[in-house]
Amino acid sequence: MGASQLDVAADFPILARPVHGRRLAYLDNGATTQKPLAVIEAERRFYLESNANIHRGVHWLSQHATELYDAARATVQRFINAAHADEIVFTRGTTEAINLVAQSWGRAELRAGDEILITTMEHHSNIVPWQLLCEQTGAVLKVVPVSEAGELDLAAFDALLNHRTQLVAITHVSNALGSINPVAELTARAHAAGAVVLVDGAQAVAHQAVDVQAIGCDFYAFSGHKLYSPTGIGALYGRRSILNAMPPWQGGGDMIRTVSFERSTYAEPPQRFEAGTPNIAGAIGLAAAIDYVREVGIERIAAHEHALLEYATAAVDAIRGVRLVGTAQHKAGILSFLVDGIHPHDLGTILDAEGVAIRAGHHCAMPLMTRFGIPGTARASLAMYNTLADIDALVAAIDKAQDLFGTRNHG
Ligand code: PMP
Repeated sequence: MGASQLDVAADFPILARPVHGRRLAYLDNGATTQKPLAVIEAERRFYLESNANIHRGVHWLSQHATELYDAARATVQRFINAAHADEIVFTRGTTEAINLVAQSWGRAELRAGDEILITTMEHHSNIVPWQLLCEQTGAVLKVVPVSEAGELDLAAFDALLNHRTQLVAITHVSNALGSINPVAELTARAHAAGAVVLVDGAQAVAHQAVDVQAIGCDFYAFSGHKLYSPTGIGALYGRRSILNAMPPWQGGGDMIRTVSFERSTYAEPPQRFEAGTPNIAGAIGLAAAIDYVREVGIERIAAHEHALLEYATAAVDAIRGVRLVGTAQHKAGILSFLVDGIHPHDLGTILDAEGVAIRAGHHCAMPLMTRFGIPGTARASLAMYNTLADIDALVAAIDKAQDLFGTRNHG
């Protein structure tokens, strides 16, 4: 097969660390990615040379730190092609971004009987915030089903959309199956029905070019740590006209214009939604990660991961007794599977002993597992530094697990 080798592993020092005396095949990138030296160095340099609190100081270091933080926001803006830098709110990650929308936009806009449309393949962080909002407002959650292949039922989507639908919240890429949803098309249909659209981009931004204006969505959420950045930083894109109309969701320093005991007034977005001292070093690390991804080239990364996924899919599917879960036509680099007679957790443990890091379980998508009638899956998820050798190690480790369990050739 023609898997292009990107040859970037040397930029990720942790990959050279043996695990259980084996070469590490890190295939748990859906959970979090490893960090390149450029990101680690950018964070280190910030604390060594530029650390101060932002937006407060009259002194030079504070102004310098503020410039770096503002530049990081502009880097995120360009990366997802938002029209304006003030449409980017820094958050702790996808989860916080979605909760922000639920508690600010949602509590202000939704009334009893309004509907929120999500899908069966959502991560818990694009389900539970809406359930909380429904409890608070009397709104109702509706769910688009998925097919056996793990694709959205588009006819059901259309049928569920109606004048009561205030919000459509959908994942760009399923973290459990890898299915890529046609978010631009779904956004157009949702807008035609008068609904606002939030896209969960947690599993998308590191794997394909994302253009929020081309998608047309109103909100787009993602986490830095799945994009080669530090943990504790992420972003919410919000269309300017909607963000401007949204009330604060957390109160504190930096989000106000004036405060008195009678009444406080609030800053413009994005500061309105960034109460307290933010993760300044994290934002700078995120910008460094985006610069690194741009240097490698997101299109090259997408092509590399796609070729690796095809190789892995064929190789794993060829093992007797393996069942793939999620065979959508459009997929990102995620391979979910079950091995007959071996619980995913046992499989994960045996693979770990071979130096192969995967994830086993429900992947924070319990309703999706229920849909497939399974408690969980084993999941290998790819990043730019993975190689054919990592896939070969995965396949060899599955063989070994089948030997240990005595299930080989009994598929
Ligand atoms: N949505 C999806 C699709 C995810 O894969 C994840 C992380 N597994 C999240 C949301 C939550 O991201 P975080 O934990 O970084 O907030």
